[in-house]
Amino acid sequence: MRNEQLSDIFEEMADIMEILGEDRFRINSYRKVARVIHDCVKDVSVLAGAGKLQELPGVGKSSAEKINEFVHAGTIKAHRDLLKKIPPGLLEMLKIPGMGPKGAAAVWKGLKVTDLDKLKKAIEDHSLEKLAGFGAKKAEAIGRGIEFIKSAGERILLIEAELIADYIIRELKAKTSVKRIEAAGSLRRGCETVGDIDLLAMAKDGGKVIEAFVHLAEVEQVLLAGGTKASVRFAEPEFCRDVVQVDLRIVPTASMGAALQYFTGSKHHNVRLREIAIKKKYKLNEYGLFRGDKQMAGKTEEGIYDKLGLAYVAPALREDRGEVEAALKGELPELVELGDIRGDLHMHSPASDGREEIEALAAAAQGKGYKYIAITDHSKSSVIANGLDVRRLQANIKKIKQINEAFKDFTVLASTEVDILMDGSLDYPDEVLAELDFVIASVHSGLSGPKERNTRRILRALENPYVNCLGHPTGRMIQVREAMDLDMEAIIARAAQTHTALEVSASPLRLDLNDAHCRLAVEAGVKLIINTDAHDTQGLDLMRYGVATARRGWVKKSDVLNCQPVGALRRWVKDKRTSHK
Ligand SMILES: [Zn+2]
Ligand SMILES: [Zn+2]
Repeated sequence: MRNEQLSDIFEEMADIMEILGEDRFRINSYRKVARVIHDCVKDVSVLAGAGKLQELPGVGKSSAEKINEFVHAGTIKAHRDLLKKIPPGLLEMLKIPGMGPKGAAAVWKGLKVTDLDKLKKAIEDHSLEKLAGFGAKKAEAIGRGIEFIKSAGERILLIEAELIADYIIRELKAKTSVKRIEAAGSLRRGCETVGDIDLLAMAKDGGKVIEAFVHLAEVEQVLLAGGTKASVRFAEPEFCRDVVQVDLRIVPTASMGAALQYFTGSKHHNVRLREIAIKKKYKLNEYGLFRGDKQMAGKTEEGIYDKLGLAYVAPALREDRGEVEAALKGELPELVELGDIRGDLHMHSPASDGREEIEALAAAAQGKGYKYIAITDHSKSSVIANGLDVRRLQANIKKIKQINEAFKDFTVLASTEVDILMDGSLDYPDEVLAELDFVIASVHSGLSGPKERNTRRILRALENPYVNCLGHPTGRMIQVREAMDLDMEAIIARAAQTHTALEVSASPLRLDLNDAHCRLAVEAGVKLIINTDAHDTQGLDLMRYGVATARRGWVKKSDVLNCQPVGALRRWVKDKRTSHK
């Protein structure tokens, strides 16, 4: 986490210098240091302690001094000095897709625009489009970008919410005699972003738990603190840059299930449940299920669903998207679980932009009980990611096959994440792809094209007999980059026809396919593969976010290819190849 903060500081210094029009060479060297720190597996403070900073590529004496300063003081003076030279609102503009430091400098100098609100006005009064280098189309795109980042700022990522909730739960368990404490709300439902965090606790002395909660060091502001409820604004830069509201409620044991059910939501799901309760002459609220004054259920969630005549509905499904009807008929899907996953089929080794060796990735995967992994390094068009040309790919295949020989009950599949080029052809010729055990094809460039062209591009790639999986199908990055404009129904139909799987990327920024697309895909009979796209062994731990997304999309174990043994996977690959001959 320290590396990430430091990397962001170097990146920000480069941005500011670029806004100020400073020396190109120095700017680039800062960006290089930022990247090196970001990709460094070891914590910088360990390297600094050992006096080994200058062994990092691109880190010279002056960068090493700045890193040391950060390790000791938590800030860097050169960074603070640079921050004083520009209006603070300019940095926020850099989050607008297509803006960049040069654009920010242009609007600052040309129009005296120093923050997002002024930029919005400059779009409305048409002054931005008249500025050199902008024009009406670009101004319009920037307007959309402002809306996008403003709406994105209100929610945090699922992984951030989970880290914060886990941290608070750990702290309160250590500091108080709380008996049970659980997260509810959209976090429990596994939504891709979370507005605020709801925690429910059972404790003998609830007042003490509330006390400990509002006095956590990361609490920025106490909005409300009573005997059984507190709301705070929680800020912890190590977890995320935003501040998030966290509510804690103390719940009596007899009502814990009812409270969990009530505060897990969604609102729409709960409205349906209350309707059913009323029909059966019950009253349902956060304290329990009542007939008159008598509590009929509420200690557990299961008890409530049972009394209402419904099968238990997993939190992931509680969106009023047909789950209530299915629960009444006893026809809910048996959702895929993390424990069903037998292998991870998307990860990068140092041959492209991964940070840990294949042996380490294999060992970590075995530690999770997996039976196989696929090494999917980038192809040559992904230049920034150090993509492999054919010669390097073939060397990698050889290496993977050698490593694989050492294993008995575990398989390392030789694979690739081959780029889908602009015309839908692939970055390697078919005869080279034929040497691989498994192939993912992904789009990494030109994501902003028109819908028809984007769709055509992907449909063509799916037709290729060697493509087994479409990687991160829409290319979206939550709150960072919008999804490619695609005809998803056409892609799902073609994936079904061609026996090509669609990926559910577990990467917390991607979660792509999203829940809605997962459901469309499995309804069309398409197989899914849930992958982490890990760049180091830690990355393999993110699988649960992909599983959470798939569960929200009603995905069953039988829909997921990497819940099957490696033999079934190999047959799947072979079937597509031979059906084209
Ligand atoms: Zn990719
Ligand atoms: Zn990848």
